Amino acid sequence: MTQITTALNSSLYIPSETFITLLSNSLPETPAVCIGCGCDDYHACIDLELHRPCHWLVVDRKIGKGVCSSCPEELERWRESYKSARTIG
Ligand SMILES: [Zn+2]
Ligand SMILES: [Zn+2]
Repeated sequence: MTQITTALNSSLYIPSETFITLLSNSLPETPAVCIGCGCDDYHACIDLELHRPCHWLVVDRKIGKGVCSSCPEELERWRESYKSARTIG
């Protein structure tokens, strides 16, 4: 009887690490922040022209900064301040 009980318990056990791994796979660990409006990977703002969540015009994951599609006017400041960043999209 003891052996059966143990088998049932172990089959029901789901390690919490499994859920943490699933969550961290969907988004980067350190969110990049828009230098214009301050939105980030977890809190996208709404693009006023497209009426949908913004996307990155440029983003540099190493420094954790970017310019989102709601702030195209910040691209010039970005180029001056973060010349090493690559353009995406
Ligand atoms: Zn922005
Ligand atoms: Zn944004």
